Amino acid sequence: MTVQFENVAVLTTSDIQSHLGGGPGLSTTGRLEFAVSRGFDVHVVSTRTVLVPSTDAWWLALIKMENLFFADDKDRYSDEGMSAGWRALFERLGIEWPMACADCSFSPEYCTEVSRVDGEPCSGGLVPAHWMDGRDMLTKLGIRTGRVVRREMKASGWTLDEWTGTNAR
Ligand SMILES: [Zn+2]
Repeated sequence: MTVQFENVAVLTTSDIQSHLGGGPGLSTTGRLEFAVSRGFDVHVVSTRTVLVPSTDAWWLALIKMENLFFADDKDRYSDEGMSAGWRALFERLGIEWPMACADCSFSPEYCTEVSRVDGEPCSGGLVPAHWMDGRDMLTKLGIRTGRVVRREMKASGWTLDEWTGTNAR
């Protein structure tokens, strides 16, 4: 684990709240509360572009605003616009954004001559990778993503009953 990142947690808005739980609205997953209670340096990243005060205010109150990374509202329908928040997060953390094969979209280490669906060889050109590849890279660097936080939360038996940070949920 990279010591530099040992306290960093990166959660998406979907990691924080979800539609699971049966109700019509969003309910908390407890992951942000757990990360805050553990003293992690929490960063929130999203492919969303807009904050909704009625459902987002409670968790915004738990993080530093400069640690919030949303997508680009002006370019929200392109891959690049959707990844804008993720790209900004990487810049903040000082991590180079991963590149992918322009033809097969695989990471260069996995790109082979038969990667393309049509069987033609890849050209060798590179383009910025998808944000999901970026997220995978964070895990490899030892940064806690939502999946890791969830696993630690379950393993420690932590529940929201232990949370005393705020009642504004
Ligand atoms: Zn390729």
